[in-house]
Amino acid sequence: MAYDSHNVFSKILRKEIPCQPFYEDDFVLSFSDLNPLAPVHLLIIPKNNYISFDDFSEKASSEELAGFFSAIGKIAKKANVSQSGYRLITNHGEDAHQEVPHFHVHLLAGKPLGSILES
Ligand code: AMP
Repeated sequence: MAYDSHNVFSKILRKEIPCQPFYEDDFVLSFSDLNPLAPVHLLIIPKNNYISFDDFSEKASSEELAGFFSAIGKIAKKANVSQSGYRLITNHGEDAHQEVPHFHVHLLAGKPLGSILES
């Protein structure tokens, strides 16, 4: 599957459409989700083009991989949720209902989220 640069997050990175930015560095952009599912609902995306977690983990440089994960930790602290707790989610493909085919991590916090591991 080839990366499709018409997706909405690619447009946000090119500043063709606006976002509500929360954090930015050399490797990532983080902004508020348009349809928040929790009081804190941030999206964290790499600045380079990857479709999914496996695409990112296969193709990104060590520097990018480290930069991405380190940024998530900084973002949790900046959002003031590292004490109260948060959930990270990444969806890929039809089965997981991935809507935007640019790799992203959701950070959800600010209310009890319930267990997603119960059957
Ligand atoms: P996913 O289902 O994991 O691909 O999630 C995509 C997320 O992107 C959804 O939670 C949408 O609400 C969110 N989203 C779509 N368009 C925008 C946008 N223009 N700005 C911010 N978030 C968006």
